[in-house]
Amino acid sequence: MKKILIVGGGIGGMTAAACLLRAGFEVQVFEQAAELGEVGAGIQLSANPMRVLAHLGLVERLAALGVAPTAYQFKMFDTGEVLQEIPLGDGYVDRHGVPYLSVHRADLLDCLIHAVRDLDPKAVRLNAKVVDYWEDGEGVTLAFAEGEEARGDILIGADGIKSLVRARILGETPVHYTGDQSWRILVPAERLAPEMRPDTVNICVGPGKHGVVYPIRPDGPECLLNMVGCVEYETWDDESWTARRPWAEMKADFAGWHDNIQAIIDHADKDQCFRWAMNNRPPVDNWRTARTTLLGDAAHPTLPYMAQGGGMAIEDGAVIARALSQDDDVSEALELYQRNRLERTARIVNESSANRDMFHLASEAALREAFAQRDMNAERTAWLFSYDPMTVELR
Ligand SMILES: Cc1cc2nc3c(=O)[nH]c(=O)nc-3n(C[C@H](O)[C@H](O)[C@H](O)COP(=O)(O)OP(=O)(O)OC[C@H]3O[C@@H](n4cnc5c(N)ncnc54)[C@H](O)[C@@H]3O)c2cc1C
Repeated sequence: MKKILIVGGGIGGMTAAACLLRAGFEVQVFEQAAELGEVGAGIQLSANPMRVLAHLGLVERLAALGVAPTAYQFKMFDTGEVLQEIPLGDGYVDRHGVPYLSVHRADLLDCLIHAVRDLDPKAVRLNAKVVDYWEDGEGVTLAFAEGEEARGDILIGADGIKSLVRARILGETPVHYTGDQSWRILVPAERLAPEMRPDTVNICVGPGKHGVVYPIRPDGPECLLNMVGCVEYETWDDESWTARRPWAEMKADFAGWHDNIQAIIDHADKDQCFRWAMNNRPPVDNWRTARTTLLGDAAHPTLPYMAQGGGMAIEDGAVIARALSQDDDVSEALELYQRNRLERTARIVNESSANRDMFHLASEAALREAFAQRDMNAERTAWLFSYDPMTVELR
């Protein structure tokens, strides 16, 4: 039985581990953190990753922990006028077979960890920071910060946006500051008046910035509202999800925006506003060697303007397990996985970057016209949501 080493216990690494264990492989996940966890933020799960989570038996649990928004609404920044809507309710389930959910990232990761540990309680090693690795004809050896080593047949780098494995395979790849910085806040819904609490995913678009607001836990005392606000800034700050910034700066950035945006900002904890620089990394056309490959943000980091970074990482986990099951030759299987992922992930990365320009158009007239010319529901249904990582033919 092949032994697969995974560096990184995030959403991508854990999904891959669960899919590989289910497919009968021996798996060891190495996570540098002392505890498995996620930052306090939401994640949207469209039908494409949800089909993998269904394969892992997690849909019911995630549906109970999260929210099934009724629609995805693009809105004008100041008036709240709905420019376009993607319905996400019952019709979405009828069409795609799975719901569209918004959940807390920690809840998603927790479900994945349970799925992995149910299959192999010893599959995850914490406090295991990988500092180096070597590949030879027979396998791959990992070196840890504490001086130990581990050996396996295949290495998967699921180590995120600052991936060590990516740097070893690709060398330094170009990074461009997009000109945007992103705010992140999480606010208990009960702090807001009932009419200010959305049951939809709201993408408010406006000159030079946009804000995304949606609920991530079911209605009631636990309900949280997640807001991410992307704002054009000339200056570059650190690319860190945990860098706190003054609440007053966030408030000023969204001055003049609709009352729904003001309400959530006004009720945020003043010392819990995070902001970081958003960098663009163009897609690459190879991310593997004979025994090592990448997945998730390590392979195809993306801007969050289609809410698909985690979705792609989950898709990768399913497809790599299928490719390794389909072809016994390691190098051929890694090529099969990559060949079947390059085009789709590049498309998502490129379209996410392009969305930034559309969402930030300089006038209401330009925004109205841009949305009038596109049918986001038809576009996304045609190729994004319809993709089934569990059944798509691998060739
Ligand atoms: C503002 C924002 C909103 C987003 N919203 C959405 C959304 O709605 N839907 C969606 O699908 N995606 C969304 N995304 C994208 C999504 O969060 C990421 O694409 C996803 O988390 C990537 O998962 P990953 O497992 O590849 O990497 P990560 O989650 O970064 O995990 C990498 C793991 O590797 C570990 N690690 C790193 N280096 C080492 C090492 N040397 N040794 C051991 N362990 C190591 C890290 O500690 C970490 O646990 C959003 C992103 C942002 C920034």
